[in-house]
Amino acid sequence: MKKNPKKAIIIGAGIGGLSIAPLLSKENFNVEIYESQKTVGGRANIISEEGFTFDTGPSLLNYPWVYEDYFSSLGKNFYDYVKLIKVDPAVNFLWRDKKNFQLSSDLNSLSDEISKFSTKDRLGIIDFFKSSQKKYELAFKHIVTKNASNVFSWLLNAGFRNILKLGLTNSMHGEIKKFFEEEKIIEAFSSYSMYLGDSPYKLPGFFSILPYGELQYGLWMPKGGMYGLVRGLEKLNLDTNVKINTSSKIKKIIIENKKAIGVSIDNEIKYADLIISNVDSETTYKDLLGLGVNENKMTPSVYTYYWGLNKTVDSLTHHTIFLPDDFKKTFNQLFSENIIPDDLPFYISIPSKTDKDLAPKGKSSIFVLIPCPTISKFNENHGLEKAKELKDLVFKRFRENNIDISNEDIIYEKIFTPKEWKNQYGLFDGSAFGPSHNFNQIGPFRNPNKSKKIKNLYFVGASTTPGTGVPMCVLSSKMTKDKIIEDIEI
Ligand SMILES: Cc1cc2nc3c(=O)[nH]c(=O)nc-3n(C[C@H](O)[C@H](O)[C@H](O)COP(=O)(O)OP(=O)(O)OC[C@H]3O[C@@H](n4cnc5c(N)ncnc54)[C@H](O)[C@@H]3O)c2cc1C
Repeated sequence: MKKNPKKAIIIGAGIGGLSIAPLLSKENFNVEIYESQKTVGGRANIISEEGFTFDTGPSLLNYPWVYEDYFSSLGKNFYDYVKLIKVDPAVNFLWRDKKNFQLSSDLNSLSDEISKFSTKDRLGIIDFFKSSQKKYELAFKHIVTKNASNVFSWLLNAGFRNILKLGLTNSMHGEIKKFFEEEKIIEAFSSYSMYLGDSPYKLPGFFSILPYGELQYGLWMPKGGMYGLVRGLEKLNLDTNVKINTSSKIKKIIIENKKAIGVSIDNEIKYADLIISNVDSETTYKDLLGLGVNENKMTPSVYTYYWGLNKTVDSLTHHTIFLPDDFKKTFNQLFSENIIPDDLPFYISIPSKTDKDLAPKGKSSIFVLIPCPTISKFNENHGLEKAKELKDLVFKRFRENNIDISNEDIIYEKIFTPKEWKNQYGLFDGSAFGPSHNFNQIGPFRNPNKSKKIKNLYFVGASTTPGTGVPMCVLSSKMTKDKIIEDIEI
């Protein structure tokens, strides 16, 4: 029995919501989560039909140390909850001219891959690693994981002398180009920017640490797919006495005297000492509070396809990124012209290659992700017709790259257009990854995890600090919890 516990309500059982709940429970809160969907996980959800299992959103698990640290902060062992399978080779980048670049956390294999393009760049990777390692350690120790309410405390956390070392004043592309001469290698490492919401020519150079993090700590998949991680988090919530209500959509956050006092659901008010929204902060302000939204630049939306194939696929590894011929033009079309690039970049994952239980014997489960402008930015209609047009372009590219998948091989299909992403999970304007990560939208400039306007209202997840991605949402839970503990007398 908790002594004089305070009550916390969390809106949304995405990764951020599921992560903060046990932390607050440990701090003597009575915690209850309300989730509008039937299942927990948010974007990291699951489709399980006709023997095929698909993760709806995230498919790459990186930075396992984040989960290890998080579970151990609660006195638990991560590996008692989630089994990880290593994915190596990690990601294969493929160009139309059939050249490919395969990432591996094995430095020898990686060096051999680089040598296919340039012997000079073989040395470049060593320098890139050394420089990224310093940046990565500095970033995670002093910046990414620290609450900072203004730019001065943020810079102070990093130490003024370290700012230049972090590459904050350079672009991501410029920072990577310092180490390599082969444009295809630079493109592969820069392509991560797609999910951060802008072109690598515009995002801060600091993000050049992303490929390093993946190579250093490896790329993984939980047993059962990414949803294996969600199941582990759900169990952790139950083990720490958190109450989860699914199929429970919150209509409004109730405010009295500029203070959040509860939430309304089915014409009933549930009162609490504090409210934490795991719903996109823009959607929270607009729909749950009836206030105006910040004019944030958003990350792209996506068309996602879930295909059950009647066969296994030999011509692809687990993760493949198809890159365009004109890299700069593609990013420009997507982020400045707000059109779907004519030379479509896309990503494919075949999780059943790593975990055979995800598809019936001799068959495959395949996930395809195509980035596109968000709903309000796109002049044409986003919808199933567009999805079919894009699918034809994917098959055209398959033929050009000799990939042995055709339309006739598909025996199960589900498609999420940007509208499904918006309507199912409350993603503002259908943006898949939340607000972008341009310099003016990171750190103290990002949507804060504590409302500036309303007392006792907090945020957790991809739209607040530190930013998007599953490990970042887990880190966000600790940052928000720290802020709450700072504010509230328990
Ligand atoms: C297609 C795709 C691919 C991705 N790939 C990767 C990847 O490979 N690796 C990676 O690390 N990250 C990836 N990401 C990003 C990652 O999925 C997200 O950053 C992360 O899952 C966001 O979690 P969150 O905590 O912000 O919660 P969300 O996922 O946003 O969950 C919020 C929850 O709130 C619920 N909700 C909304 N409104 C209400 C309401 N009114 N009442 C009650 N509940 C409500 C929603 O149903 C949802 O469950 C991907 C995302 C997408 C969309």
